[in-house]
Amino acid sequence: MKDLNIAVVGANRGIGLELTKQLSQSGNTVFAFCRKSSSELNDLKNIKINVKIIDQFEVTDLRGMSSAIAKAELKKIDILIHVSGILREDDLDDINEDGILEQFKVNALAPILSVKAFLPLMNEGSKVGLITSRMGSVADNTSGGMYGYRMSKSALNMAGKSLSEDLKDQDITVLLLHPGYVKTDMTGHQGHITTKESAAGLIKILDEKTIDQTGTFWHVNGEALPW
Ligand code: NDP
Repeated sequence: MKDLNIAVVGANRGIGLELTKQLSQSGNTVFAFCRKSSSELNDLKNIKINVKIIDQFEVTDLRGMSSAIAKAELKKIDILIHVSGILREDDLDDINEDGILEQFKVNALAPILSVKAFLPLMNEGSKVGLITSRMGSVADNTSGGMYGYRMSKSALNMAGKSLSEDLKDQDITVLLLHPGYVKTDMTGHQGHITTKESAAGLIKILDEKTIDQTGTFWHVNGEALPW
């Protein structure tokens, strides 16, 4: 994957930051969208002229996203990777209604708004990677709990599938991607893999899959995941 215009949404930390780093190393122009930049992202921008930061990008605000994109004077986007997401832990003894609704808003609704905001800049052959979770797989759920997170990621999987159908005629590929269990703020830096390994795997999948695989759900290790 090189010489492309790539938008990473949620680029200031975690998996999004590492995606931005790796994608900027292979000659792509990476538009790093975030609410507030971090010192790591600023440092990257200072050494890489092909990294452009667009901040104040709140993914639950379609109008705000569209105007930030317009201000950035982007001509086209070949790949959109929507990474932003939140996790609010809960279980049957502690169902937090506000937390569940918040996760639906950020994890399920916001990616649709984000795709809508970028769509005018996408062309035939563009790709969308939606970072979901295997926690959103109904078939794969053998441990229960995490109601809000699981439900919101299941809803994202359904949204991604609908987007893939709606955008097929425009030759835009939509992929649902599980990044692995990754050591980031979200997991309290517990996990099986580093952001480096996760980002490398995600980029490989985005590079390899084509419109023939649109609307499919992948583990970062390259295996197809069940819905
Ligand atoms: P982090 O908590 O490290 O990063 C989350 C990112 O989402 C931050 O950039 C954060 O921005 C952004 N974000 C959250 N809410 C909003 C919002 N309302 N508007 C804009 N940006 C927002 O998480 P990870 O890097 O670990 O996770 C990235 C994605 O991968 C998430 O979608 C997560 O669900 C998914 N995932 C992660 C796994 C893991 O093991 N880490 C496993 C499975 C899936 P800000 O700094 O402004 O809050």
